[in-house]
Amino acid sequence: MQNFNFPVEVVRTNRKKSATIKLDGSKVRINVPRSLSDRKVEELIEKRRAWIETKLQQQALKPQPQKKQYVDGEGFFYLGKSYQLKILMGKNDQVKISKNFLVVTLKDQNLQTAIRSILESWYRERAEELLTKKTIQLAKVIDVHPRQISIKNYRSRWGSCSSTGDLYYNWRIIQAPINIIDYVIVHELCHLIEHNHSPRYWSHVSKYFPKWKECRDWLKNTTINIY
Ligand SMILES: [Zn+2]
Repeated sequence: MQNFNFPVEVVRTNRKKSATIKLDGSKVRINVPRSLSDRKVEELIEKRRAWIETKLQQQALKPQPQKKQYVDGEGFFYLGKSYQLKILMGKNDQVKISKNFLVVTLKDQNLQTAIRSILESWYRERAEELLTKKTIQLAKVIDVHPRQISIKNYRSRWGSCSSTGDLYYNWRIIQAPINIIDYVIVHELCHLIEHNHSPRYWSHVSKYFPKWKECRDWLKNTTINIY
């Protein structure tokens, strides 16, 4: 099923007279009568799309780490949107987004470790590019001057600000929606004014990012499950 931004498994059976749609991990499983055409199946999924997307989102927010398998069809987030992993063999290692797919091209063997490392470098590069650009823009607005901006591999934090004015971001944040990324940047930049989480600090944050509370909550619920 290529028309959806989530993986779909179609199970055809003689025992079924009608269709049932269920969520199986991050995958959608639809059981249908054997004779039902692909088009009809797609229509059925389309009708339930809103329900499926809500369920997938709820599941993504559940604090349960899911080990990635790095297999075709597996869902990966980029800027808040889910893409299906598609693995191809080719001349060069490469990652690109094409419609609903995150296409990873490998020049050597199709190994889980190779896919993981190519994907992680791609996420890191995208994170470095976007976060640097946005930090420079937002620093002008807030009128602060970070000394250095770099990307880190944190397990349990999204960013940090040193007492000397260096900003560090977790590359994983590139998987979150853009407003969440903006919040993380404003959060760290405001630490250049106040090096604590005092009410004064939060008043700076809310001046430049009024919806900070909902973003902070979003991150609280998402911490462990982002890959
Ligand atoms: Zn902080």
